Amino acid sequence: MKAKALCALFVVGAMGSAGAQTPSGWRAHDLARPRPPVATPGQAAEPMAPPADAVVLFDGTDLAAWKNREGAAAGWVMRDGAMEAVPGAGYVYTRQAFGDVQLHIEWAAPTPPKDSGQGRGNSGVFLMEKYELQVLDSYRNDTYPDGQAGAAYGQYPPLVNASLPPGEWQSYDIVFRRPRFDSMGALVAPARMTALQNGILIQDNVTLWGPTNWLQANPYVAGSDRGPIALQDHGNPVRYRNIWVRELPESPQTAAPPLPEPADVPAAVLDRLVGTYRNGGMVLVIRRSGTGLEVTLPEGRRQALIPLSPVEYAFGATAATLTVIPGPAERPARLTFRMGDTAFDLTPDSAPATTR
Ligand code: MG
Repeated sequence: MKAKALCALFVVGAMGSAGAQTPSGWRAHDLARPRPPVATPGQAAEPMAPPADAVVLFDGTDLAAWKNREGAAAGWVMRDGAMEAVPGAGYVYTRQAFGDVQLHIEWAAPTPPKDSGQGRGNSGVFLMEKYELQVLDSYRNDTYPDGQAGAAYGQYPPLVNASLPPGEWQSYDIVFRRPRFDSMGALVAPARMTALQNGILIQDNVTLWGPTNWLQANPYVAGSDRGPIALQDHGNPVRYRNIWVRELPESPQTAAPPLPEPADVPAAVLDRLVGTYRNGGMVLVIRRSGTGLEVTLPEGRRQALIPLSPVEYAFGATAATLTVIPGPAERPARLTFRMGDTAFDLTPDSAPATTR
């Protein structure tokens, strides 16, 4: 039995020596890891009222949005408009489940501070119950960097230590993108997290390796697209207030329409458009490019000019058009440039510019 356990240890040890077992190369909870530099926040502000499209999870009134693990009333207490962790009462969970969110939450570590390291003001904000942004009194309190305040626990130390002293209200603003799985349960996109503490960036769109956990790294397991937000009872009476969340749309971008199809405009017509056009300081240069045209904007960026008709052209990369007002010998007398809600005329330089 003992020999078997030793053998297992040896195998683990051998794997360890063969290469890093975590994406960062650091073993989890390594005290030898460099400490993030301290970035002292500005003056703590009064709580900011939630935006109109937020789901308010706690406004200082009651714990109605929260439950315990069994689904019954949350066992934390209300004190002075804050909710306070009760040691032994367990985590609290939102009754509503969330996937992609922007979460605002304010917290304060107990004062006077007690104990040290992971024992001082420990709690945590869990997205989908699984991904913890650590809450800890990290004001002049050393611990392993991937477990200090603002760490994506066990994976990413915060970029800086932006902690305020215990007793002072601090804020986390978190953007969380849940992991994506395909219909077979294979991971398509890992979870990502961005976070600010007291207005200071502490996690910059980090890719989580899996659910955060103590001592071990757990792999992703396909499951629900949503889960409760949970607050940790780690035996310390950490307080929370002003908690609100905005659900983020699945994809922030709407599909762009295709570029217009180029019209079949004779080469001679395109040739006559080549030249330099001005309106004060605004200068457009039109050149031939392959069988088509390109235009250079004042900043020098070239883009295709797509013929829509012999007198109408669309920019390839900017939502702008040029309309040709013909002059003598079918050469342009001027061009009308339209972009957004502005339009102005450009007149050609007199020099002939028909060379290819
Ligand atoms: Mg914690």
